[in-house]
Amino acid sequence: MEIHSLHTWITKPEEPLIIAGPCGAESEVQVLQTAKELSEIKSLKLFRAGIWKPRTRPNSFEGVGEKGLVWLNQVQKAFNLKTTVEVANAQHTELALKYGVDVLWIGARTTGNPFSVQEIADVLKGVDIPVFIKNPIHTDLQLWLGAFERFSNSGIKKMVAIHRGFHYAGKTKYRNKPMWELPIELKTLLPQLPIICDPSHICGNREMIADVAQKALDLGMNGLMIESHINPAEALSDGQQQLTPSALKELLAHLTYRRSSSSKPECLDRLSEFRKMIDEVDDELLTILKKRMSIIEQIGHYKEEQGITIFQLERWQEILRTRSQWAENLGIPKIYAEKLCLLLHDESIRIQTEIMNKTKLPNI
Ligand code: PEP
Ligand code: MN
Repeated sequence: MEIHSLHTWITKPEEPLIIAGPCGAESEVQVLQTAKELSEIKSLKLFRAGIWKPRTRPNSFEGVGEKGLVWLNQVQKAFNLKTTVEVANAQHTELALKYGVDVLWIGARTTGNPFSVQEIADVLKGVDIPVFIKNPIHTDLQLWLGAFERFSNSGIKKMVAIHRGFHYAGKTKYRNKPMWELPIELKTLLPQLPIICDPSHICGNREMIADVAQKALDLGMNGLMIESHINPAEALSDGQQQLTPSALKELLAHLTYRRSSSSKPECLDRLSEFRKMIDEVDDELLTILKKRMSIIEQIGHYKEEQGITIFQLERWQEILRTRSQWAENLGIPKIYAEKLCLLLHDESIRIQTEIMNKTKLPNI
């Protein structure tokens, strides 16, 4: 898949891509006033505003539609800002192109629907416009990848992933759980794809945005999309998570921006010393793991001879309890030890099952 780096078309090398603007365009005054205040933020690269809002229930604010595109044209002219809107179908896309929107984004609900994604990709065949794709609501990496493939097949080369968190049925403090491992997996599969973070939709409230934004930058994400409204208390959608332009300016000023690497030889040398130490420890860990596996093979044969079951509930409970306690004593988080125990136990069951199956085979 051919994907252009951000610095070839929108940012300087290593510069984060900062996008801000209201959840939804509500009125000409709201859009122009928000854009005016945001245009004072030097790092701002794109002004966002939802024109068509995907709402869970009808009769909530569903966006102003086409007239909002006229306001975005005013933003482009008056403040020299590039604009981006969410498109969810062919008609939105045609209108956005007609009004010269600079960048399109695909919302989380749309990414989850291959029919809609294909319909939009068909309209964009042969059009040179950047397309940003939010992760689908559910943790389905294939759907996210599939959307990039559909736009790539239409000839789109300026693509960016937006990580906006995932629906989570369990207890969580987030509106959409970040599950950082998923954007990391996407980056591993498509290393050339820029990924930015949308902490507004991850958090669902203003208070947590700075921490999530910082974590995204610490992980090496390439930018942020943050919702901003001149008067969040009066916002027609997502009021709780929107920041005033001045609060956003303040937040951005307090973040630490990192480089993907260093050009200083002494820094690179020090990093490689640390990595050598980690390599050695990992080698030792694997050697110990191999030793554990050999004991498991022996116990598997012994249980088979003695006619004893593989899974022993009491022993498993004891392992979980003692190991997480030992870990805690060492200052290792309990949850980490538990995850590790689960991995070890799964493999132990697999090895012993294989042993029992093999020894049984000749009798069949
Ligand atoms: C939005 O950006 O306002 C939006 C609707 O986001 P998402 O598609 O991530 O829910
Ligand atoms: Mn929103």
